[in-house]
Amino acid sequence: MSTYNIVTLPGDGIGPECLDATLHVLQAVLERVPKLKLNLSRHEAGAEHYRKHGVAIPQPVLDECLAADAVLLAAIGLPDVRKPDGTEVQPEMMMGLRRAMGLYAAVRPVKLYPGVASPLNTASQGIDMIILRENLEGLFASFGGGCLLNDTVASDTLMITREGTERVVDYAFRLAEKRKGRPSDGKRRVTCVDKANVFRSFAFFRKIFLEVAQRYPNIESDAAYVDAMSLYMVTEPSQWDVLVMENQFGDILSDLGAAIVGGLGLAPSAEIGNAHALFQPSHGTAPQLTGKNVANPIATILSAAMMLDWLADRHADEHAREASQLIESTVAALLSQGMLKTADQGGNVTTSGVAEAIVDAIAAQGAAESANSTNCAAS
Ligand code: ATP
Repeated sequence: MSTYNIVTLPGDGIGPECLDATLHVLQAVLERVPKLKLNLSRHEAGAEHYRKHGVAIPQPVLDECLAADAVLLAAIGLPDVRKPDGTEVQPEMMMGLRRAMGLYAAVRPVKLYPGVASPLNTASQGIDMIILRENLEGLFASFGGGCLLNDTVASDTLMITREGTERVVDYAFRLAEKRKGRPSDGKRRVTCVDKANVFRSFAFFRKIFLEVAQRYPNIESDAAYVDAMSLYMVTEPSQWDVLVMENQFGDILSDLGAAIVGGLGLAPSAEIGNAHALFQPSHGTAPQLTGKNVANPIATILSAAMMLDWLADRHADEHAREASQLIESTVAALLSQGMLKTADQGGNVTTSGVAEAIVDAIAAQGAAESANSTNCAAS
């Protein structure tokens, strides 16, 4: 029997609705996988919390995140809640969490599920790649720093370190080992995405990538410039398996990735460190949709599936694996039947309606399995 302490952070905007839908699904999964136990706690943090209390993430909540087995965050930030310098609280909170928890690898799956429309006419061989974003360095290392001189010149510094690059590139190859390869021919492939032709920092990133690649002779490795990759992702999306890149490039290409597989409402993510991990949808708080029960919760639900998969790897726990696969396979089946078409997908299924459809499907599978086992026992 495994019990995991999970901190949930509903956050702002559509975050609480998406989290409630996800918790409803998790409850149904726990009934089907009774040997898995989740001890879920819920804490307030984010822009509303900053508005009321002047702090986005209170120290006790950060301590809870550090003590937990995993953190599930819905969405944080509100455009009308600003710090005295005019910036939003979301970057400070996310950078604070990433730095405190050492979350160096942001895993953003770009997967086209059957039944979901892609805007591309190049998607017939399938799309299933990972954008792996280095999550602590690159241009974002400058967050909280930078320089503004006399209201005339501003600068931020992009940082690439050997240690930071080695660990994220190594993670990319280990991820590729676990996957089934690119959709076009099943070949496992890790691609370094950079701007090594122009900047010393990216030439260094690529050099380290090539060094690490030598440890994985069974996985194909290559490199592409980020501008070319933004074209290849559109013209030949089935050729890519794992793409590893600097922080800001990953931030940008992962939104492009979401766009080619049905949008942000379907885009989950995992942020992984050596000791901690945080899971959240790739989207923000979409304030204009708040409270209307129209947001798509699937990105958050699939993020919870990624959380269970990570717990399964970390603790060699097949119950967590079963729970993760149950969520993903049920979501995939319902998407392929067109049963989860929320407004962003051109339909009118509500946020709570998505959760109910998934819960009903999970319960129906459970009932069918028990009927089968009763029949077998009787025969
Ligand atoms: P942020 O600035 O934090 O990225 P945002 O709400 O401005 O937040 P996104 O969350 O990236 O931006 O989303 C952009 C738009 O995509 C939203 O305004 C909304 O129209 C749509 N969107 C994003 N997530 C969802 C969702 N889960 N369901 C439905 N529509 C969504």
